[in-house]
Amino acid sequence: MKQLPALLNITLAGVAVCVLAGSTLVKPTPEIHGVSLGSMDRAVKPGDDFFRYANGEWIKKTEIPPDRAAVGVFDQLEDLSNKRTADLISELSKSNAAAGSGERKVADLYNSYMDEAAIEAKGLAPIRPRLEAIGNIRDKRELARVLGETLRADVDPLNNTNFHTDNLFGLWTAPGFSGSEHYAAYLLQGGIELPDRDYYLSDSESMRKVREQYLTHVSTMLKLAGFSDTDARAKRIFDLEHAIAQSHRSLADNDDIHKANNTWTPADFAAKAPGLDWTQYFRGAGLSNVDHFIVWQPEAFKAESALVASVPLDTWKDWLASHELEDFGGVLPKAFAQESFAFYGKDLSGTEEQRPRWQRGVFVVNDLLGDIVGQVYAQHYFPPEAKAQAQAMVANLIAAYRKRIEALPWMNPSTKAEAEAKLSTLYVGIGYPETWHDYSNFEVKPDDIFGNIWRGSLAAYQRQVARLGKTVDRKEWSMTPQTVNAVNLPLQNALNFPAAILQPPFYDPKAPAAVNYGAIGAIIGHEISHTFDTEGSTFDSKGQLRNWWTPEDLKQFEAATARLAAQYDAYKPFPDLSLNGKQTLAENIADVAGIAAAYDGYHASLGGSAPPSEDGLSADQQFFIAFAQNYAGKMREAALRQEVATDSHSPDEFRASTVRNIDAWYPAFDVQPGQKLYLAPADRVRIW
Ligand SMILES: [Zn+2]
Repeated sequence: MKQLPALLNITLAGVAVCVLAGSTLVKPTPEIHGVSLGSMDRAVKPGDDFFRYANGEWIKKTEIPPDRAAVGVFDQLEDLSNKRTADLISELSKSNAAAGSGERKVADLYNSYMDEAAIEAKGLAPIRPRLEAIGNIRDKRELARVLGETLRADVDPLNNTNFHTDNLFGLWTAPGFSGSEHYAAYLLQGGIELPDRDYYLSDSESMRKVREQYLTHVSTMLKLAGFSDTDARAKRIFDLEHAIAQSHRSLADNDDIHKANNTWTPADFAAKAPGLDWTQYFRGAGLSNVDHFIVWQPEAFKAESALVASVPLDTWKDWLASHELEDFGGVLPKAFAQESFAFYGKDLSGTEEQRPRWQRGVFVVNDLLGDIVGQVYAQHYFPPEAKAQAQAMVANLIAAYRKRIEALPWMNPSTKAEAEAKLSTLYVGIGYPETWHDYSNFEVKPDDIFGNIWRGSLAAYQRQVARLGKTVDRKEWSMTPQTVNAVNLPLQNALNFPAAILQPPFYDPKAPAAVNYGAIGAIIGHEISHTFDTEGSTFDSKGQLRNWWTPEDLKQFEAATARLAAQYDAYKPFPDLSLNGKQTLAENIADVAGIAAAYDGYHASLGGSAPPSEDGLSADQQFFIAFAQNYAGKMREAALRQEVATDSHSPDEFRASTVRNIDAWYPAFDVQPGQKLYLAPADRVRIW
């Protein structure tokens, strides 16, 4: 539901990431258990500039590296997690585990990826049978079956906001929009290699340049694979993708869930989207027994199916071969891998250097066997005490929300009842999942990286298909424990907070409770808020697509939040630039709600005992400083201006200023009228 900003542009997008998106955070300092005193600038008055009071010294000491637009802890946490994961894989590789065991699969997969000499020696042999099979397709009927065979579970429109697949279509299995107790099959548009329709259709100079580079790249890959007449083939492949892109729904429209709620029976496909032999397609995909699908973008299915009929068979065969080469370029001989990086890494993303091979190996293992590594990762880095402590925190946060919603003057009683139900059924996953994925259908061979990747993605697809129609496991995770991220799963009414994000400075079991509530507690509270806001109002307590707010509730909510929008409209990162309070409203609401619930939760956790001071700071002071230290970060002016223009989150400095809406912040720092952040009690905004 939320786009991931470029700053966090890793493979893991997600709704919940919005808490961290756009914010770069303080350096992890595991040796300090509590607020980072050294980061603070006590010469600044907290009531004037709380962000610099909490982070001033850190800002003075920290330089933005020349090759980055911003600096913060998120990248460092990610580097740390990758390093730990690589070390675990390396240990597993040396353990000589029994054949067929998970550990052995991890070792064989990783080592087969790392063995560049073996890849070089094999040349084109691994991919040749695939290319020959494509070459042997005799008619459109066989083409339909082969297109079906390439369908993979490689899209995820809601949890991880991934709308791209280069296969003709993509499958997502998830709770049904209207029948959320069973897994349903969602089908999404696909077929283009470049990231989005705009790359084919936009008139901008940069997009025109990318298109030229792409044409050359397709031709080069085909040439390396031994095809003749490659410029003409590349042009035909490009024209086909261009036609596909014209039918694609835009990213903004893809986010509109109501436009995506289209149930089709198998018979509907032939009637509504004629052209492709759908019986053969579903047979190839192993979906012949599925009696209904949810088609996210019907107009794209209609157009893409018609193109299968109208575009010559030979063009489709070239398109299939070219996509096969793109998918496996990274595990073919060096010439392919280099050409692949030259286009996708340099031309498309502006990256100068490729990540070291070991890091790419870690990505492959995380992708295909993530839960096996994740299980070991959680054992090493997330002890049961850390989990129990975080879970107790979540329970206190949920109790705080319950009280706050009960007390809301503007929400209708029937809406409150559904909000209550949503709270009591909310699953908040902490650290690692309750059950682990079973990879027994994935055969890993020691010296066959091409086959391993092929079998791995097929096995993942088959696991998804096998569960269609079965009862939903609402506690299933969509992230591995070693992922530095968090996610909101609206159809499951669930949140996931992986172990890799539950570490300092966000969370430290050895830190005072006030600090953990102020840091990760406010982040968890932020995510919980999203289950009740305008987004959350779309899904009910069972994860069904159903608006459970009355129009009157919405009106009241909008009135209450208009004041918050006005508060952020007044912030000016530069004299000539103000924030857009409306654009950032949902995230600002979540920030206010998150810190308010975390504050209540902290005080409830004390059970009546006096809040302990530490380092000369009262518990409340530690709570608020820890919150503001979540947002220590620095950004170059151009990047900050871009963030203000495009991001749904406020810049770090203003997120830290959220504290001014909380009554308890005033006595904690003796904030007085006349100070810059002072708000009269009537002007402080309370949403939930
Ligand atoms: Zn958010």
